Amino acid sequence: MDRQTELDLNLQQVQDRISQAARAAGRNVQDITLIAVTKTWPATDISLLADLGVRDIGENKDQEAKEKYAQLGKSGLNWHAIGQIQSNKAKSIATWADVVHGFDRPDLLPALAKATRTSDLEILIQVNLADTPTPGRGGATPAELLPLANLVAQTPGFVLGGVMAVAPLGQDCAPAFERLAKLAQSLQTEHPAANKISAGMSDDLEIAVNFGATHLRIGSSILGHRNYQG
Ligand SMILES: *Cc1c(COP(=O)(O)O)cnc(C)c1O
Repeated sequence: MDRQTELDLNLQQVQDRISQAARAAGRNVQDITLIAVTKTWPATDISLLADLGVRDIGENKDQEAKEKYAQLGKSGLNWHAIGQIQSNKAKSIATWADVVHGFDRPDLLPALAKATRTSDLEILIQVNLADTPTPGRGGATPAELLPLANLVAQTPGFVLGGVMAVAPLGQDCAPAFERLAKLAQSLQTEHPAANKISAGMSDDLEIAVNFGATHLRIGSSILGHRNYQG
């Protein structure tokens, strides 16, 4: 089987899963965006996915994403920076990203502002959903969410998109995603347009859809198993 056929089949399976989950949750599948997470995979895979109708691409390592962006250009795609942001990489991320999902502290903002390619870089605030925050997984505490959101909303050049989270390691993700949905709701009382919820990966997309995720970040179910844990 050639790569295009393989990606096509995997993509259809994932889209079927999303449709079923949306139906089960009484949601409109149109309200759910699939982000294909192409980290560790070559730029040629991004082109094949674009040919198959994928419009949203996720990358978590700045250097790798930058190389692919240099090869492909924007290609009509929305480029999502989905990983944790190291302070010294923020400026570089803004040269290729349309949407930044890992925003979790105020000091990233000036660096992102320096290089942003779009005049309205979209920011999703990452929230740490663990009962006891795990070092290295990133994310603001729930109490930090609103102050961070206010800061982003007030800063010219940025658009506040909503919230993002990664399911806490080794914990049941349903209560975590439920908590995220409540945080998203409280954010929207202050910022009604910030209605995006980025949650759900290959293994937990159904649960994320059940709790209102609008953006799913799906890697291995579409691209295959990665050689490193990225
Ligand atoms: C790699 C990654 C994903 C995709 O994970 P899969 O399990 O391969 O679907 C989603 N979100 C983030 C932040 C990631 O780093």
